[in-house]
Amino acid sequence: MSELRLMAVHAHPDDESSKGAASMARYADEGARVMVVSLTGGERGDILNPAMDLPEVHGRIHEIRRDEMARAAEILGVEHAWLGFEDSGLPEGDPLPPLPEGCFALVPLAVSTEALVKLIREFKPHVMTTYDETGGYPHPDHIRCHEVSVAAYEAAGDYRLFPDAGEPWNVSKLYYNHGFLRQRMQVLQDEFARHGQEGPFGKWLESWKSDDDLMSKRVTTRIECSKYFELRDQALLAHATQIDPKSFFFTTPMEWQQRLWPTEEYELARSRVPVHLPEDDLFAGIRP
Ligand SMILES: [Zn+2]
Repeated sequence: MSELRLMAVHAHPDDESSKGAASMARYADEGARVMVVSLTGGERGDILNPAMDLPEVHGRIHEIRRDEMARAAEILGVEHAWLGFEDSGLPEGDPLPPLPEGCFALVPLAVSTEALVKLIREFKPHVMTTYDETGGYPHPDHIRCHEVSVAAYEAAGDYRLFPDAGEPWNVSKLYYNHGFLRQRMQVLQDEFARHGQEGPFGKWLESWKSDDDLMSKRVTTRIECSKYFELRDQALLAHATQIDPKSFFFTTPMEWQQRLWPTEEYELARSRVPVHLPEDDLFAGIRP
């Protein structure tokens, strides 16, 4: 096997830069082919950066987000594909409003699964990443991203399913991203305190029950990628309409992050190759 291939499936453009971006950049830099798949165009995302909240941006958000995504992929050194579904938006209110007609979360699962199966059979990834069953965040597109990815992982190698979507290909491993960890936030918050400063994570930590400890309950795989944290931040900032550069994401000194938490975390959800857990490499068991 001369080439290793990794496919990271995400709901919206910008998700790839906040979940697993540094490990993707590392694998790409080490010679693997890495493809980020954006299931939707992010058309219903709000403009979250006050500096970009301009009339000329509002009418062109779809186009602008395509350009932002292209720039982020270039920074991370990854390939990128759009699956072409329409952002469902994050429903707000009580009761919640119905989802907009035709949006990704309402597309029949067989239809979205076939589209992803086709891409898997073309790219032939050894490893895929996606979100866990909670979506990591209760956005209908994130939960759907999980459902579609798991269904496509199962179906891509089965010649009886989606026979018009290409030659069967078995993906060897499927992972869930687990980058948003209470323990990591606490370690960084403590470092602010040690320097006599108030960290930015106080409210998060207060509202976060310490028993949803993903780190000990679900993380199986930690990827050292601290050298690529700068690229991760640059890729995130490339999504200029979505990220406020003054946000708390960017307030923790890089040196603390690299020293205190130099990894990104994943959960091995499915495997067709023998594994030994915990692991420090998404391609463990696959490399020649
Ligand atoms: Zn998203």
